[in-house]
Amino acid sequence: MDSKKIQMPRTVHIGSGVINETGEICRDLKIKGDLLIVTGDVTQKIAGALVKENLENLDYNVSLVKIDDATEKSVEYVEDKVEDALLILGVGGGKVIDVSKMASKNKNIDFISIPTSAAHDGIASPLASIKQKNQESLSLYAQAPIGVVADTDIIRKAPFKFLSSGCADVISNYTAIKDWQLAHRLRNENYSESAAALSKMTAKLIIKSSDAVKKGLEESAKLVVKSLFSSGMAISIAGSSRPASGSEHKFSHALDKITNKSALHGHQCGVGTIMMMNLHGGDWKFIKNALKDINAPTTAYDLDIDPDDIIDALTIAHEIRKERYTILGEGGLSKSAAKNLAIKTGVI
Ligand SMILES: [Zn+2]
Repeated sequence: MDSKKIQMPRTVHIGSGVINETGEICRDLKIKGDLLIVTGDVTQKIAGALVKENLENLDYNVSLVKIDDATEKSVEYVEDKVEDALLILGVGGGKVIDVSKMASKNKNIDFISIPTSAAHDGIASPLASIKQKNQESLSLYAQAPIGVVADTDIIRKAPFKFLSSGCADVISNYTAIKDWQLAHRLRNENYSESAAALSKMTAKLIIKSSDAVKKGLEESAKLVVKSLFSSGMAISIAGSSRPASGSEHKFSHALDKITNKSALHGHQCGVGTIMMMNLHGGDWKFIKNALKDINAPTTAYDLDIDPDDIIDALTIAHEIRKERYTILGEGGLSKSAAKNLAIKTGVI
């Protein structure tokens, strides 16, 4: 990562039916040559096939490949399928976008992000969350998409849990910023006022507009996509995920590591934000109420995760991405402190 380099998408299309303009968008970006679509089983039916047809109508030579997880293995699989393609179009949810981003970066080609849901802030950011061979999920610096095509008509039809997960991921910016400021004060870590301000403003806005986040509404889809986009831009400005990922993300990654039954990324981070805000001495009830307002989980029960796994994740969260200093410090929480924290905040 180069903190002097800011990568942003060149073109961003958010609205109903924009997916049908993918071919023209590629033409406007002066893309000539073969293309590769990366998609999933379900997303191929609702969007991948549409994108393929649209591109072929403009005489592009298009291949299509399907993946079902965001692992290093899937990244390598996609890389093998790139062959002569000059560009990858990631058409799907977070996992598809993350794998497309990483594979395109490794193959030194561009990528366009075509999200079918608004579940996390990776849709426009340069970061990709990839599960490593040791089962640890890492948020890696890949590359920003050159284009984003977010069709709100498709996104609004995705299950509501994805939208509330996207909102919760944005709300987690609150504690991410607090952790970043702490690392700046204690470790003199680079800190960007503008990236932090953008990230915090986005989180505030989503909380202020929580009444408007409703199932099936195109306006809701638009609001959440735009918020995720701003959050992604804060990451681009900072040149790291600091503005959108702190101790609450470590907690979520720790949960992923210890339980096979993990919930959605944004939902786990949201619950993490409640607890980390308490550790920071901040207004954790405000976070909890904000999550409730958008019908996002606030307890282990809501997440459908065993309370003991919540406690265990809290005790190992500091070990995830050790170089990233947060309120968890270097030693993390003792088991009794973790239990107290989870009980005090009503998570268990
Ligand atoms: Zn996140």
